[in-house]
Amino acid sequence: MIDRFHRNIDYIRLSVTDRCNLRCRYCMPSEGISCMPMGEILSYEEIERLCHIFAGMGIHKIKITGGEPFVRKDLCHLLAHLKQIPGIDKVTLTTNGVLILPWLDELKIIDIDGINFSLDTLDPDTFYRISGSHDHQTVINAIHAAMESGIQNIKINCVPMAGINDADIAGIAGMAKKYPIHVRFIEMMPIGLGKNYIAVTEDEICKKLENTYGTLLPLDGNFGNGPARYYHIQGFQGHIGFISAMSHRFCHSCNRVRLTSDGYLKTCLFYGEGTNLKYYLRNGYSDESISEQIVLALQQKPEHHDLSDQIPESKGMSQIGG
Ligand code: SAM
Ligand code: SF4
Repeated sequence: MIDRFHRNIDYIRLSVTDRCNLRCRYCMPSEGISCMPMGEILSYEEIERLCHIFAGMGIHKIKITGGEPFVRKDLCHLLAHLKQIPGIDKVTLTTNGVLILPWLDELKIIDIDGINFSLDTLDPDTFYRISGSHDHQTVINAIHAAMESGIQNIKINCVPMAGINDADIAGIAGMAKKYPIHVRFIEMMPIGLGKNYIAVTEDEICKKLENTYGTLLPLDGNFGNGPARYYHIQGFQGHIGFISAMSHRFCHSCNRVRLTSDGYLKTCLFYGEGTNLKYYLRNGYSDESISEQIVLALQQKPEHHDLSDQIPESKGMSQIGG
């Protein structure tokens, strides 16, 4: 799918739930959110139907997200079906890693194309302060088990926050030295509770890493689905990536759309509008009519977000999927 600004849209981030077992302070309030009733959430059959339509329109890569995808029952059943859709080359997922361990064998059998683990700190106390959870070791164990399982493309995603986990940046990056996995630093975006935190910028992180590990050599390759820029550090097995939506805006190369768990197609993370595809799914519209709606939505994909803190999107990240 080519949009008005000649961008090839071939990637969808698909949220399967707005529920989560953690309460990362920049993402979800400690008291939780009022979750949508299950009847409002797209069923797996509805998601599969939409993915068939998207695949026919040129979407080749699907990232499953949430909330936390593993709080939804039978997630692997959905993943297995998505993997079978002609035209879909890659099905990957992003997870906080707390609940994934019992599913690793099945994920390997399904031949999942990659797993991103969100890990903001190597310190259990800081993990508790950020997420409200004592499951830090569970996540670390899951990352090791995933690496040992032979599942390809394991990545670590870390959101550095000034004064909270910035002391951990070099340690987290060091996981790409110790293991053959990429570590990416995601710049905090002023969306939802993220507005309350000070991002550590890519330039600041680069300086820290150069002081600890030496020169960061820019790489040309794309090692994920989207806009991360990668660097190599001598002696590292994996690369270091940056997803810096604010300080290094990448809208000109944006290749993605998002589907919320209640069926809204969002063409830009920063804008509140979306097309209610659930309405068309549940009111007897044909696949052709639904693709027409998708084309219309895509025509509205903005050229870029503006860099101000006045982001029109009012939903929290757990409701969108990151
Ligand atoms: N629960 C899963 C997880 O944590 O990976 C999937 C959903 S979570 C919303 C997806 C990603 O969004 C996580 O890596 C999280 O750290 C990131 N995230 C949440 N709020 C953010 C914000 N305001 N700015 C940047 N990244 C954010
Ligand atoms: Fe849950 Fe992921 Fe948000 Fe943390 S970042 S609260 S794990 S959805």
